[in-house]
Order: sequence, then C-alpha cells, then structure tokens
Amino acid sequence: MTIWAATACGAKGKGMLPLPTRRAALDHLRRFVPRAGASYASGRNTDPGPGKPSAVSRLSSVVRYRLVTEQDVVAEVLGRHSFNAAGKFIQEVCWRTYWKGWVELRPAVWQRFLAERDAAKREADVMAAEAGRTGIDCFDAWARELVETGYLHNHARMWFASIWIFTLRLPWTLGADFFLRHLIDADPASNTLSWRWVAGLQTAGKTYLARADNIARYTEGRFAPRGLAEEAAALTEPPVGPAGKLEALATPDMAAPSLLLVHHEDLNAESLFAADAPVRGVLAACDPALLWGDAARRFAGEAMADAATRAETHFGCGSTLADRLDAETLLSAARAVGARQVLTPCAPVGPVADALAGLEPVLAAEGIALRPVRRRWDAGLWPHARRGFFAFDAEIEGHLRAEGML
Ligand SMILES: Cc1cc2nc3c(=O)[nH]c(=O)nc-3n(C[C@H](O)[C@H](O)[C@H](O)COP(=O)(O)OP(=O)(O)OC[C@H]3O[C@@H](n4cnc5c(N)ncnc54)[C@H](O)[C@@H]3O)c2cc1C
Repeated sequence: MTIWAATACGAKGKGMLPLPTRRAALDHLRRFVPRAGASYASGRNTDPGPGKPSAVSRLSSVVRYRLVTEQDVVAEVLGRHSFNAAGKFIQEVCWRTYWKGWVELRPAVWQRFLAERDAAKREADVMAAEAGRTGIDCFDAWARELVETGYLHNHARMWFASIWIFTLRLPWTLGADFFLRHLIDADPASNTLSWRWVAGLQTAGKTYLARADNIARYTEGRFAPRGLAEEAAALTEPPVGPAGKLEALATPDMAAPSLLLVHHEDLNAESLFAADAPVRGVLAACDPALLWGDAARRFAGEAMADAATRAETHFGCGSTLADRLDAETLLSAARAVGARQVLTPCAPVGPVADALAGLEPVLAAEGIALRPVRRRWDAGLWPHARRGFFAFDAEIEGHLRAEGML
C-alpha cells in the first residue's frame, strides 16, 4: 500500500494549477466559471507566461484524470452562462472528447506512434532541444517551463511543436514523447493527435506554422524569435484505416459481489456507479509504470488517494491503495472480498486499457468477470468522432439536450 506525498506542481506553477483532489478541482472550476464566456473567448490565445493570471482555466490536469469530468465542467458552466455565451469554452472541452473518441475508433494510431517513437534516434540535437539550448528564446523558455511546471498554455504547445518539427526538423514522435514525460495532463489521445495535427498528419496536408509576429503578439512581447521556418510542408505517412466501432461492453451483473477497481483514467467512480451497487471493496491502483513522467505520477498518486477516500464513503466499504495494476494485486483484492466480478470505469486507449486487456483472462480463469463501464458522455459522443471536428461539433448541442443539460 502506497501513498504519494510530494507536491503536485512545480515551483512556478504552484498555486495556478488545481491540487489533486476533487474538492480542489471543483473549487478551481467554480472560481473559473464566471470567466468562461466572453473573456475566455477573447483572451484564450494569449499566453502571459508562467505564474501570471490568464484567461484559460488551467483545468487540464484534473479533467485528464477525471477528478472532474467533462460533463461536470460543462454543467457548471451552463449553470452560469447560456450555451452560446460559453460556446467557445464548451467547444474546447469537447476537443478533448473528440480526440478521445477519434483514437478509440482508430486505436492503431496510438500503436503507430509508439512504434515510430521507439524507432526514432534520440540524437544530440534532441537533447539540446529538451534542455532548452537551441538559441531560440521562446522555445528554450517553453522547454524549461514545461519541465519546471508540468504545464504549457495551448498556444505555447502549438508554437513549440511547430518549431520542433519545421524549424529544428526533429522527429515529431520524440517531441510528443517529451510532452508525455513532462506534462501533468499527459494524455495519449490529446497529445498524439495534437502533434499529428501540427505536423499535417491529422488533417492531411494542413500544417500549423509558428510565426514570429504571432508569438510576439500573443506572448505580450515577451519573445521576439528569429530564424523560424517560413514554410511548413506536411509530413506524410501510410493511410490510417477507416474508423472502427466502439467496443461493445458486457452488462455488469448488479447482484454479483464485486470489487471496484479505480484506475487513474477515471478518478470519479462515485458518479459512475450508484451507492447501492454490490461493491464489497475498492482497489485504488495507481501504477507508475502506466504513466510517463514523475510530475504526472505524483499528481495521479495523490489524486488516487483522494478517489479512494471518496469511494469508501460512497460505497460504505474499505479500500486498498496499490502502486501496481497486476494480476497478483487484483486477484488478492478480489479474493479478499469474495468478489465474482470486478467493476471498473472503462479505460480509453492507452497503457491502463492494455493492462486491463491482459488481466481479463487471468480473472476469468478464476471465475471472476471484468466489467468495464463506459460513461454516457463517452458513449454518446465518441461515436461521432468518425470525421473532422466540425461534424463532431454539430452533435454537441443535441447531446447536451438529450442529457437534459440544456
Ligand atoms: C502539441 C499539443 C499537445 C497537447 N497535449 C495535451 C495533453 O497531453 N493533454 C491534454 O489534456 N491536452 C493537451 N493539449 C491540448 C491543450 O493544449 C490543453 O488541454 C490545454 O492547453 C490545457 O489548458 P487549460 O486547461 O487552461 O485549457 P482551457 O483552454 O481552459 O480548456 C478547458 C479544457 O478543455 C480541454 N481542451 C482545451 N483545449 C484543448 C485541445 N486543443 N485539445 C484537447 N483538449 C483541450 C482541456 O481538458 C482543458 O482543460 C495539447 C495541445 C497541443 C497543441
């Protein structure tokens, strides 16, 4: 049993990012909500720099691990603003849902990224870029800011990725890996697809070029980079296959004595399973091997302890914190409470989903069924991520109405 105790944020980010508890996440969200309308829409592109007040929410770490869900965020915002007034902010939240759905329908894109990343050579110029020693003022500052705080503004992520690919001409997969190892919100879908988008792979042929005047304007004159690439020819790749279907999930047996497995892809089990679900015990497993960087591991580890406490209260049973998600840990927790079923939030494409796929037959051999449960938000919206974002965007209002949120 392990409890991580380190602080969640680097020195410069401290105080600006929410701490890893649901209470802190909700407080942070509620402080932001009054600014989710016009001030977000007009100010969101400006990056005033680390430690400075900004128009964006800085909610990404708590949304990524689902200390608050996209549904929580949108519901809070709609409690204060109309759908149209907060349209830009809701749209950005739904970019995350779109990327998650897009990868869910094409999981091979994540596997392709991993294979290309592992084959790429980490030469001296990659090390210099990661260390912030390229001589490009803004790029070097963002490399250091990322490592020190675990966060970058969206516009800085776009400029950074563009300079990495088109000015420094480094392999995009190694840039994406650098982000994965340092972002607290490091996410297989949002990170991989955003890098692919900058590179011209995601929307084939359409690249993002970082321009010096745009950087100077939206960093309020903090930077005046020289020598940036003046054109950005799209990278190419073999075609990505057509979108598949969401995996159908078996219905859980709501009479079977169950273990609830909480993993770091969804730290909000009490909004997914009713208090009278047959949960006899909770295993809260945060395996550091299933994340990429220490800042994310510390954040998720602390958030897991908070999730375990909430689950104990909600289900009225005991919980065990574990730092391994393996067969031995899961089987012994299931046996300890006489479970015939393991209930768990459905994990999206990534290392936790891979781990669960490996554990399912081991549990089955012991007569224990693994039953992942998908959120209505994901089940309702992910299937629409078959084409570009604008087709997806057109479905959002209808989904919110169908869910009674509008
Ligand atoms: C190259 C690159 C890599 C990225 N890697 C990640 C990543 O690993 N994890 C991650 O969560 N986001 C990633 N993003 C998306 C985006 O930059 C961050 O979600 C956003 O900057 C977080 O800051 P915020 O919470 O203040 O966002 P806000 O502008 O306040 O937006 C609110 C929420 O909406 C979601 N969101 C906003 N913009 C995007 C977007 N473009 N794509 C997906 N979700 C979005 C986030 O959950 C965010 O917390 C990446 C973007 C780029 C360009």
